[in-house]
Amino acid sequence: MSDVKNLVIIGSGPAGHTAAIYAARANLSPFMFEGYVVGGSAGGQLTTTTDVENYPGFPEGVSGPEFMQLFRKQAERFGTEMVGQDVSEVDFSQQPFRIKSDDTEVLAHSVIIATGATASRMGVPNEEKMWNNGMSACAVCDGALPMFRNQPLMVIGGGDTAVEEATYLAKFGSKVYLVHRRDELRASKIMQERALKDPKLEIVWDTVFEDALGQDYVTGARIKNVKTEATKELEVAGIFYAIGHVPNTSVFKGQLDLDEKGYINVVPGTQQTSVEGIFAAGDVHDQKYRQAVTAAGTGCAAALEAERWLAEKGLG
Ligand code: NDP
Repeated sequence: MSDVKNLVIIGSGPAGHTAAIYAARANLSPFMFEGYVVGGSAGGQLTTTTDVENYPGFPEGVSGPEFMQLFRKQAERFGTEMVGQDVSEVDFSQQPFRIKSDDTEVLAHSVIIATGATASRMGVPNEEKMWNNGMSACAVCDGALPMFRNQPLMVIGGGDTAVEEATYLAKFGSKVYLVHRRDELRASKIMQERALKDPKLEIVWDTVFEDALGQDYVTGARIKNVKTEATKELEVAGIFYAIGHVPNTSVFKGQLDLDEKGYINVVPGTQQTSVEGIFAAGDVHDQKYRQAVTAAGTGCAAALEAERWLAEKGLG
């Protein structure tokens, strides 16, 4: 069984690369499938962000793509083998596990899944053009950029994320509209109370977002009241989606326990999935924090757990 890898890592965002750095330094010779399981590109969500200003150790900030190149370089330096392909099929029913992309098939004693999640978008006509030019799906990542300071901003959604992000943006913007499609928020009561108390925050009920307005940068938003059908243009410099995320787990359905939204279930306090020897890290199992630094933290934890598990089983 010499051709069985000790550890295969699926996904190349902060969780995957951190797992690779730790595993490579523990002489596990990890093998990484860099491509995303569902769409997207290698490197994960940060490659679609402009500046990362909240990752400790970068006092001046760092661009998302450059940041992921640094992660990759560090994982490569310690000998991680990488293929830039998406995983299309897995068999976790027996040891060694089988992981397949279109033209590579690998056997592995242990696996770390770090395929992340994709922020949902609405696909409005100007979305592609305005993405990163005033439109974003992460207020915590992008909200503090100079282009949004003291400007009117808008958040779309009615869940905890929407309320949290609107409250966060109210620290920077001159005003924040929280646009929600119903007349009731889904967010927890405590978050709702906070939002309702914030003088800079205005909830726009029963309203859907139709499109972003502007030439090169967002200067406004067209919205429609679903009860009256009336459309209106709001002057805003930033539009933030907070309408949920979809975990990239379609390829693991039927192989691992997933929750009702498709996130991988782990044993509380560990990175262990429902199959021994398979670990999850980052946004693919975390819908609460979803930060690069928390993803990196769980990537480290997953690698340490994989290393211990392999040693206990006398594998690798
Ligand atoms: P949710 O799925 O809870 O909420 C998504 C919101 O977006 C809903 O209000 C939904 O409307 C709205 N929405 C969905 N699709 C569309 C669309 N196409 N157009 C307009 N609106 C749309 O996602 P969250 O990211 O808010 O939360 C995910 C989980 O993470 C939750 O369990 C939440 O509690 C948790 N969380 C916890 C936090 C904390 O504890 N601090 C912080 C952030 C998240 P509708 O209500 O009509 O369905």
